[in-house]
Amino acid sequence: MVSHSVDAERLEVDVVVVGAGIAGLSSALELAETGFTVLLVEKNPYVGGRVAQLYEYFPKLCPPTCGLEINIRRLRENNKIKLLTTSIVKSFEKTNGKLSLTIQQNPRFVNSRCTLCGDCLSVCPVDRPNDFNFGLDTTKAIYYPYNNAYPQRYVIDEKYCQFENCKMCVDVCKYKAIDLGEKKKIIDVSAKSVVWATGWDPYDATRLDHLGFGKYPNVITNMMMERIASPSGPTNGVLRIPNLDIPINEVAFVQCAGSRDENHLEYCSSICCLASMKQATYIRTQYPNAKVHIFYIDLRANGILEDFYNKTKSDPMIEFHRGKVAKVFQNPINKRLLVEAEDTLTGRLIEKEVDLVVLATGMQPTTAKNSGFLAELLDENGFIRKDSNDGIVGCGVCVSPKDVASVVQEATGAAMKAIVKIKEVQ
Ligand SMILES: Cc1cc2nc3c(=O)[nH]c(=O)nc-3n(C[C@H](O)[C@H](O)[C@H](O)COP(=O)(O)OP(=O)(O)OC[C@H]3O[C@@H](n4cnc5c(N)ncnc54)[C@H](O)[C@@H]3O)c2cc1C
Repeated sequence: MVSHSVDAERLEVDVVVVGAGIAGLSSALELAETGFTVLLVEKNPYVGGRVAQLYEYFPKLCPPTCGLEINIRRLRENNKIKLLTTSIVKSFEKTNGKLSLTIQQNPRFVNSRCTLCGDCLSVCPVDRPNDFNFGLDTTKAIYYPYNNAYPQRYVIDEKYCQFENCKMCVDVCKYKAIDLGEKKKIIDVSAKSVVWATGWDPYDATRLDHLGFGKYPNVITNMMMERIASPSGPTNGVLRIPNLDIPINEVAFVQCAGSRDENHLEYCSSICCLASMKQATYIRTQYPNAKVHIFYIDLRANGILEDFYNKTKSDPMIEFHRGKVAKVFQNPINKRLLVEAEDTLTGRLIEKEVDLVVLATGMQPTTAKNSGFLAELLDENGFIRKDSNDGIVGCGVCVSPKDVASVVQEATGAAMKAIVKIKEVQ
């Protein structure tokens, strides 16, 4: 790793939107299309957030990339939005009714001359774990975050790049798109309102020892399942565990893995039941003879999503078991996984032997780990539970767990609240 000096800039906008997942994108677009200037600040080198990692959306089972592409087109066409990727808000304060934010933009080391030609990838000698695919495969130190990622250019992971000791990508790039000396930027921003939409991280499954995550490669999380099912994922959409040669005849989903549990996340993430039902269809589509077991405490499919539950339930190869899973362990003889639960309807012990276990882990707000100046707006689980008097409005899963349709509605509401704040300042 190298240390970088800092360039400084100043900007003035109506609204800063923090986080360019589906919540932040939706809110930023509503604001910009109404005529307000927006600075959209995203930590990752791409927009789209967690939705970009999903294979299909419940209940329609359509690809999330469709909706994302439409939003990205709206974003590209709108000159009222300035997008900063690889950026975070370092400080925030309110003075004389105006909001001042300090934003740090970390170097990407690849500029807009990049054409994604691939020459740099072919010479880069270093591999890194692919965080987009939850470490199920690797990329080079210079990489494209995912197929169709926006902005459409490579990025260099400074934790892995050998910089001056290598420079092979710089030498091979005929477009002069790589600048290993790019500096970190500090941008001082003045705004009238802030929309906070920093979303969620999957709950850390390594804390669930009793469910075998990290011990057995065929115990995975629901988000890993999304990547494995995706044609752009580590197995090109073939449902199997990379580097593990086992058949997929029987699969167990463990609901509330670390949720509704005072030792982990004490709340319900509200979408995990539907996500598992959706993923059961991934398995049933690829392996028509495979059996699926869904172990649950109680099933939650709100409103019109009840139809999706009824459809899943009508498949005789998908069995629902009412019981909290106590442990997952390996049969020492045949190496299959044993899932043990108590059936809460009959009081009997249920034991199923399966090939693959999917842990339905919940969504934890990013604000739980990194509260800083937001601390007074957060509840005990780290969700933003009130709007600040200083002009910060929350939306998306950092406010409460919800599905994408509800996120988009809330993002529109947040844009309206931000407009009210702007009018108060004017
Ligand atoms: C297994 C699983 C399957 C799911 N399937 C479905 C489904 O089929 N249908 C459905 O409707 N919903 C589904 N969901 C729910 C869906 O993923 C969420 O509703 C959606 O991701 C919420 O969007 P968001 O913008 O609030 O958060 P995110 O998607 O998390 O986006 C937040 C953005 O903020 C950025 N960010 C974070 N911190 C910072 C920071 N400090 N500074 C700047 N940027 C930051 C992140 O990088 C990210 O880009 C599923 C969830 C799970 C767990």
